[in-house]
Formats: sequence, structure tokens, C-alpha cells
Amino acid sequence: MNYETVIGLEVHVQLSTQSKAFCGCGTQFGLEANTQTCPVCLGMPGVLPVLNEKYLRYAIRAALALNCKVASYIKFDRKNYFYPDLPKNYQISQYDKPLAGDGFLEIDLAESNGAKKTIRILRVHMEEDAGKLIHTKTESLVDFNRCGMPLLEIVTHPDINSPQEAYDYLTQLKSVIEYLEVSDCDMEKGSLRCDANISLRPKGEKKLGVKTEVKNMNSFKGVREALVFEISRQQKQLDAGEEITQETRLWDADQEKTFSMRTKEEAHDYRYFPEPDLVPFTITQETIEKIKKELPELPAQKKKRLVRKYKISEYDAAVLSADKHIALYFEEAVKNYADNAKGVSNWLTQDIMNHIHTEQLQTKQLKQLLPASKLAGMLKLIDNGTISGKIGKEILPQLINSKKSAEDIIKEKNLSQISDTKELERVIDDVLRENPAVVEDFKNGKSNAFMYLVGQVMKKTRGKANPQLVNSIMAEKIK
Ligand SMILES: [Zn+2]
Repeated sequence: MNYETVIGLEVHVQLSTQSKAFCGCGTQFGLEANTQTCPVCLGMPGVLPVLNEKYLRYAIRAALALNCKVASYIKFDRKNYFYPDLPKNYQISQYDKPLAGDGFLEIDLAESNGAKKTIRILRVHMEEDAGKLIHTKTESLVDFNRCGMPLLEIVTHPDINSPQEAYDYLTQLKSVIEYLEVSDCDMEKGSLRCDANISLRPKGEKKLGVKTEVKNMNSFKGVREALVFEISRQQKQLDAGEEITQETRLWDADQEKTFSMRTKEEAHDYRYFPEPDLVPFTITQETIEKIKKELPELPAQKKKRLVRKYKISEYDAAVLSADKHIALYFEEAVKNYADNAKGVSNWLTQDIMNHIHTEQLQTKQLKQLLPASKLAGMLKLIDNGTISGKIGKEILPQLINSKKSAEDIIKEKNLSQISDTKELERVIDDVLRENPAVVEDFKNGKSNAFMYLVGQVMKKTRGKANPQLVNSIMAEKIK
């Protein structure tokens, strides 16, 4: 049977406040276990939580960037469950009155040539994190440092219809959050986590099928793979006439499979009730407007502006604006060399991005490794004919890894482009003399013989010959 895939995503983002959500403990990652705790986040009797104001502001900032309506009335609830990483036996969360909702994120669909899709945001709410269990062969250890970390949970409507769309949504959501500077979005540190709800239904059917919730994916690629697996698992089961069990499943990245963890809880399993230790309060329209005014230019707006201002393609603008650091770098480099924005964009989206990926660097390191003025300096040398683009590519790693300017490297290695006609003629004469058979081939109509001869000239000059000049002189001589 033909099925339609229906996916909804729940993303937890840890907001980068200095202190935890309801106490004064710090929020550093990687400290010695249980050194970042206090009676409040350990749930000792008689303590009272106090809401971190910055946490609230960051949460509102994110909600507004996702086009949500922010509630004027804020209330917290206790989500009760017993688990060893939760000393209070409840999480402070928001149940029936979330911070915000009714928003959307318009995403570019990577595999559909400029097509866009609107993913509706159902709700955005605040919730403290739990601790962490570490299981060794003989013991289970608990670290409460993460207890009370300020999280934002962003839940979509089931508007996503394929694993690739889920991937596109996640990468673009991450990009928005990074622009807002409210989280480091570091998945390795667990600052960004995603659970996926997925169900299938026969094509054309209106009613949603039974869903499973998939957890434990620690990369966006992992989410995509887990969803691909889950689709085929559910499909096989439905085709065999079996019913899908509503449950939570864990993704095992090594085995590339999901495994049943527990049957899915319902809201009533958590016995939510209003948190009596935090008073409900109102957020004024004035506060919301103020935070709205402070929103930075977001990726979608930046993309449009880059196209308009620098006359680069939609595609290049999307690649540049997807990463805040790259986008800033691009504009900085263009400031240094306004004559060739297109060239800056090409180098950035191709060679430099490749270098960053192969060397496993972070894009935020780029401005230190290769100051924008240095890149601009090299592009000027290419554009004024001092070096060829090919030599530019060759010296790029050295340019990145040393303090030297492009000019220094070229001088040192004697790489300036040869545009001296006399000198080029000499080399071309040599090549023609040494390759009589190829010249003959060319005269008999083999056009790639010409390319071969040009290649020989480039080889003899170690790539330094000006290619346009070589072409024209060669064409002249061979006639
Ligand atoms: Zn604490």
C-alpha cells in the first residue's frame, strides 16, 4: 500500500544563561560530577525556586523569532515522575498554559529546488532539565549538575512528511536559534536534543495513524536515519496487517535500528498540577514589544538582503546565511573588497567551506584563522592577474595556517603568474617542438589535442602561466 508519512518534532534547546532556571547555580558543561548543585536544584525540603529573568527573556526572544504568540499569563506546573536522575521527583515545566504557541517556521526544502514549506509551531514552553545517569559495568552513577538547566521545548504540528524535511527543519531551526544567541546549540554537549513522533497513514486518509516516539538521536543525520528506519518498520508491520503499538523507541546508531523502550505515557501519567512555589504572573505587551524590537536579522531575512545587496544567487545566499559566522565573515570580506562580492561568495561557499569540513574546524574559528582582509587580499591578486585562481587554491591552506599574507607566500614561493608574452612564447615553442605528433593530431581535427598542449605549458610553468594568454598565443602559433 502507499502510505503518507506524518512527523512531528519536539526539540529541547538549552538556553545559554549564566545560572540555572530556578537557582543561582552555574550552567557550565563538563564540570566534575555534582559540583554545580545547591539545595534548590537538588530538591531539598523547604527550598523555594526563583525564576531566572534572563531565562524568560531568552525564551520569549526565541518564541517571537518563531512567529509565536506569547502568552500574557505565565504559569508553571509540576510534571511528576520517579527516576533516579530527578531528585525532586518532578520537573518544573509548563502544561496547559505554555509560554507561547501558534507560530511557524518557513523552511527551504533542500531537495526540491527552491521550494519552501511552512512548518507550524504548536507550542513553545519552558522546562528545567533533569540530571544524568552514567552506567558502568557494575554501578549506576548519577550526576546532578544538569538538574535545573533552563530548557526551551519547541513542538511542531505534524506538518513534516519525510525524513529529509525533518532534517531541513532542524538545521534551519538551529540556524535561527544561533542567530538569536540564546543557545550554543551544541549537540555534543546536549544543548540541542530532538525527539520525533512518527506515524503512517494510507495516502488520502485524513485520520492520523498510531504514532511512535523516537528518542536518543544525537545528530540531525541520526534523526534522518532513525526516521527512515522507522518508516520502513511501520510500513512492513502495516502491510502485514499488524497494528502499530503506541510507544517510545530508542535509536541505536551503531545497529541502525530503533528498539522499544516503554509504552508511551499519557499526560495523566505525569499528574501535572500547578507549581505552588512559583506564582503565576503576567507579561506586559510592552515587554514583548521591547524584546521583539531587539530581534536580530534572522537567516531568511539575511538571505533576501544578501541577494538584493550583493547580487549573488539565491543558492549562495542560502549557504552563506545558514551559518551566522559565515554570513558575518562574508560581509566583512566584501567590506575589504567590494569589487567582487560574487568572488568572495564563491570562495567562501566552495574552497573555504570544504577546508572547514575536511579539517573539522568550526565556522566560528574562521575569522581568526583567516582574517577577512587576508582573503580579500588574495582575491585582489587573482583578479589583477598576479596569480591564477589555481594557485590561489593551492596556497589557501598555507594562507589559513600561517600569519603570512597572500603576497608574502607568492613572493616566497615565486608563484606570480607569468604574463610576459616573450617568456610564454618560449615555453610554448618548446612544447610544440617536443610534441610533433600531438600537433599533427590537432591539425587532423582532434580538438582535445589543443587542451593537452596547453596542459603541457601549465606543467612546465608549474601552473603559473596566465591561461588566457597561453590559449591565445598557442592558437596563433599552431595555425
Ligand atoms: Zn542549584
